[in-house]
Amino acid sequence: MDDAMNRGRIMIIGAGGVATVAAHKCAQVPGAFRDIMIASRTLSKCEAIGSDIRSRYGREVRTAQVDADNVAELAALMRSFEPDVVLNLALPYQDLHIMDACLETGVHYIDTANYEPPDEAHFEYSWQWAYQDRFRQKGIMALLGSGFDPGVTNVFAAYAQKHLFDEIHCLDILDCNAGTHGHVFATNFNPEINIREVTQVVRHWEEGKWIETPAIIGEGSVHFSFDYPVAGVKDSYLLYHEELESLVRNIKGLKRARFWMTFSENYLTHLRVLENVGMTRIDEVDYEGRRIVPIKFLKALLPEPASLGTKYTGKTVIGNIMTGTKDGRDITRYIYNVCDHEEAFKETGTQAIAYTTGVPAMIGAMMVLTGVWRGAGVYNIEQFDPDPFMEALGSHGLPWQVTEHAALPGKV
Ligand code: NDP
Repeated sequence: MDDAMNRGRIMIIGAGGVATVAAHKCAQVPGAFRDIMIASRTLSKCEAIGSDIRSRYGREVRTAQVDADNVAELAALMRSFEPDVVLNLALPYQDLHIMDACLETGVHYIDTANYEPPDEAHFEYSWQWAYQDRFRQKGIMALLGSGFDPGVTNVFAAYAQKHLFDEIHCLDILDCNAGTHGHVFATNFNPEINIREVTQVVRHWEEGKWIETPAIIGEGSVHFSFDYPVAGVKDSYLLYHEELESLVRNIKGLKRARFWMTFSENYLTHLRVLENVGMTRIDEVDYEGRRIVPIKFLKALLPEPASLGTKYTGKTVIGNIMTGTKDGRDITRYIYNVCDHEEAFKETGTQAIAYTTGVPAMIGAMMVLTGVWRGAGVYNIEQFDPDPFMEALGSHGLPWQVTEHAALPGKV
């Protein structure tokens, strides 16, 4: 982007928990974000975020109704608002449509989750990486995965590669939510996307290939107890997560990459029952003469993730344990962030999962908008200099620490 052309204009698409946090955070940085629009399917949700921001920071936010699956409608809205960047915080189903609209209008694109086709519970970067040449030719950039995981965890790996290691051999990403929200069963982000993710067969990277293990609710799922800083000992389950796909390409010398997430026995029991009775199905079924998709019906019954914040207490602890070499020595380092649900709620009206995603989404947008990160084409976040992003994390509510640690068990 030509600096002279940068008007500090951001269009946020989506009005859920993550978009709420990102909008608050953009409003807190008026020097970078001079003009903010929130556009989503339900206008009243955009207006509610706008009015909260007006009362907290005295800033006006523009709002609009848009169907982000309709490229022509999106492009028309972009032509009228003329944003410098679009921050996609709708659902992964919309990624390609929003990228198409960005291509049509010449606007930079940022998201936090890779594309997933609605009729197949499968996510991978190939669909978005396929836009590489078109984005390059148009002279615009797409920054993929600027949430926490993917997002901050990728930046932690890039930072470790730049400053702490000569070579990283083993990467373990550990995601712990030690908070309680008071509901018997709820998901911390969009229930449909969340349940599709956690019911999948698990994969991790080892010695140049993907190894499959059973889903977290299946017989033989892989888990271990890990003693998290602040949160204590929690059962952590091996899970496939999208950042593994780009990190094994971009972090040199990786021999093993795994992702772990904490789940309570209560959560897993509910999920098992829902799966067993067919409530997590993503195909259409007949219900009293109507076609319905069970997982969409389930989403309608579960609490809105954005509403969980009111009673949420406890912390999230998310970070990377990395083992490799430095100056001929084997070393292991742990980089992590601790975030508090109640603090997040006080500041933005949402819980820490949305907070830890919305803050890096704003920072990624700021890196692109201010030209600190520049490029033409499609990039994963670890491909840029991690230093300005790491610095911004500390000053915008997600401070991090680096400690020495013992290597985690496993082959390699
Ligand atoms: P929500 O379901 O709370 O919000 C999604 C928003 O997108 C809703 O406001 C919804 O509208 C809107 N939307 C959906 N479809 C359309 C459409 N066709 N046109 C316009 N708007 C649409 O989700 P979250 O805020 O929890 O999550 C947002 C994104 O963040 C997801 O992609 C999720 O995968 C990602 N995420 C990433 C994480 C990371 O660390 N990288 C962690 C957590 C989430 P309506 O209000 O009408 O339903």
